[in-house]
Amino acid sequence: MAGLYIHIPFCKQACVYCNFHFSTNVAYKHKMLEAMVGEIALRKGYLQDETINSIYFGGGTPSLLNKEDLEFFFNAIYKQFKVDSEAEITMEANPDDLNENYVSGLAASPVNRLSIGVQSFFDEELKWMNRAHQATQSIAAVKRVQDAGINNVTIDLIYGIPISTTSKWEENINKALQLNIDHISAYCLTVEEKTLLKKLINKGTVNEPDDEVAHNQFNVLIDKLAEAGYEQYEISNFARNKKYAIHNSSYWKQQPYLGIGPSAHSYNIHTRSWNVNNNHLYIKQLEEGNTAFETEWLSPENRFNEYIMTSLRTMWGCEKTKLETDFTAQLNKIRTPLQKLIEEGNLIDTETHYRLAKHARFFADGISASLFV
Ligand code: SF4
Repeated sequence: MAGLYIHIPFCKQACVYCNFHFSTNVAYKHKMLEAMVGEIALRKGYLQDETINSIYFGGGTPSLLNKEDLEFFFNAIYKQFKVDSEAEITMEANPDDLNENYVSGLAASPVNRLSIGVQSFFDEELKWMNRAHQATQSIAAVKRVQDAGINNVTIDLIYGIPISTTSKWEENINKALQLNIDHISAYCLTVEEKTLLKKLINKGTVNEPDDEVAHNQFNVLIDKLAEAGYEQYEISNFARNKKYAIHNSSYWKQQPYLGIGPSAHSYNIHTRSWNVNNNHLYIKQLEEGNTAFETEWLSPENRFNEYIMTSLRTMWGCEKTKLETDFTAQLNKIRTPLQKLIEEGNLIDTETHYRLAKHARFFADGISASLFV
């Protein structure tokens, strides 16, 4: 099985923290979509005829695609790939795009899962983030989507915002729980280079996020969601009724995927490639019949580090048999730090797996990095 990621590189406006690739100029959207469909045809061999079990429209803002744009993509995808009849087909959508007409179009399309960028239920926080929507639109959008029969819904939330407080964060979680959805993704605000947020912090206009507050909010999040019956199956992802995202899980399970569109990454176990992150260059390359990506071969060390990083972020953890059979040399190099993490209580050593202890989850990336070879 394999995944397909489609990167829609357009947004209405720039959120303050965002470092994804997008442009706010949609005037050449059609040219872009033609180039992307061209890339699908050129790179169909990358997945070596594997059946697709997950298609993910991410971005950018995929809900800027209209009905015809979506049909254009689906025609190309179904023409070039074998798509499993049960495939998870997710679209990221912003609440302000999910009006009645748009939602009924989605319900009639192959899209069967929506990831809605709620981020917060407080207008002042949304304004601080420079989001294009208001809190009431999020609640109405989720309800509209459910009423239209799309029941596989997830929302994104952000914690650690400098103007927020832990009690407001609790209210955000409570509001999310009232939506009766099976999946929630919650991300810690990070300050990335070249973002507006970074500039504002450097100028002293906004405060830097406080790690301790973010850590408290993370603890509140995992306790409240566990109480409500959600499993934290990955550091930032919580599911009820075993509705784990197939798309994200395939990244963690190291299944191959093809990324289409500017800045999209692809992975096929042996290599990783990434498309140029410039819309005009991407279109130019594809118009000339060329692809627009660079590739690196993944060394056993790269693959080991990646496996440690992704698997330790999940509730299943890192599989001992896989380490012993696929990464014997690398495992031998990390026996001492591994043992230390177990003795310190940060890693749980089960019969089959190494898993992060609950109190260590907030530090997942740092702990993984300490095991890199
Ligand atoms: S809508 Fe998403 S991709 Fe676009 S600027 Fe905001 S966070 Fe970034």
